[in-house]
Amino acid sequence: MGCDVGRVAEALRAGAATVAEHKAELIDLDRAIGDADHGENLDRGFAAIVSTLDSGVPETPGAVLKIAATTLISKVGGAAGPLYGTAFLRAATKLGDVSELDGAAIATGLRAALEGVVTRGKAEVGDATMVDALSPAVEAAERAQADGGDSAAVLSAAADAAKEGADSTVPLVARKGRASYLGERSVGHADPGATSTALLLRALAEVAR
Ligand code: ADP
Ligand code: MG
Ligand code: MG
Repeated sequence: MGCDVGRVAEALRAGAATVAEHKAELIDLDRAIGDADHGENLDRGFAAIVSTLDSGVPETPGAVLKIAATTLISKVGGAAGPLYGTAFLRAATKLGDVSELDGAAIATGLRAALEGVVTRGKAEVGDATMVDALSPAVEAAERAQADGGDSAAVLSAAADAAKEGADSTVPLVARKGRASYLGERSVGHADPGATSTALLLRALAEVAR
């Protein structure tokens, strides 16, 4: 089964709920190696997405993702706002005006999102950023899709891989963003953006189930 526009809007609401639920945890992660605002930043952005959707849902999944993108870019400062905004914008553009997202569309959208983040932030896997969660998520999504997975299976594979990827940042030295200012002292902490990426993908996967 694919995800229509209503399901995609629901997924963003679930993403907002998860960010709100884990806000303190994301703040604590960012306090350890950054400036303690990641949970606050994302919560503000996703709450704004929900309030825009409350006033009307557009006609296509791509248009919903574009609302998420423009809202995150305009409401969330710092590194993560523009990076997540770019991710949603690239996915929205890639999906165009398709009315339902099947497993293939979701894998394609996730690939486009990753390319956007990498183009903008120039991080590679192993730099201890959200790319460490998103990149394996995209690869897992593509494998699940190639195995014939539907939207739920593709998102579930992506969420599992993202969680593993976020956990993999703990022993790494951060090489991008604020955490990189700490050098070796960034070792021993999960990256906040990788953690939020894993949480968001899990929320999307739960809605697609
Ligand atoms: P800021 O660091 O400006 O306060 P946030 O705290 O909201 O912004 O987001 C920090 C997260 O952004 C990091 O945990 C990391 O995952 C991500 N990040 C920072 N710089 C980059 C980059 N160049 N490429 C990819 N992700 C990055
Ligand atoms: Mg921060
Ligand atoms: Mg900040």
